Amino acid sequence: MNDCVFCKIMARQIPATVVHEDEATLAFMDVGQVNPGHVLVACKAHVENVYGLEDAQAAAVFRAAARVARAIRASFNPPGLSIYQANGKPAGQTVFHFHLHLLPRHDADGMQLVWPVKNPPREKLEEYAARIRAQLA
Ligand SMILES: [Zn+2]
Repeated sequence: MNDCVFCKIMARQIPATVVHEDEATLAFMDVGQVNPGHVLVACKAHVENVYGLEDAQAAAVFRAAARVARAIRASFNPPGLSIYQANGKPAGQTVFHFHLHLLPRHDADGMQLVWPVKNPPREKLEEYAARIRAQLA
């Protein structure tokens, strides 16, 4: 096992609020200080960045992201939803394991979260994740 935080989440050695799981991907709520409440969609395999994705992994991650995005829309109906990916330290990444961010938007200008509360605490994330999971069942 390497020191990658996301690999430890995949192995369930670090707890995470999971919203979706399939053979190749895991989607979970970010409880970090930087991105509270983002839904992260990650490859189960340790792939450092987009350049390392095999075609099947790319398809799996984007398919999972689309499914989770639809479930967020069905659960919370945010005015918008952004999806982004960043590579490397210059882009502000601190974990080097490929993942997408799903970010419900408050408005066209802001990156503010539109969950029912801003910067939701962990117990709220569990509640939101359960609502998303219910749409995916
Ligand atoms: Zn990893």
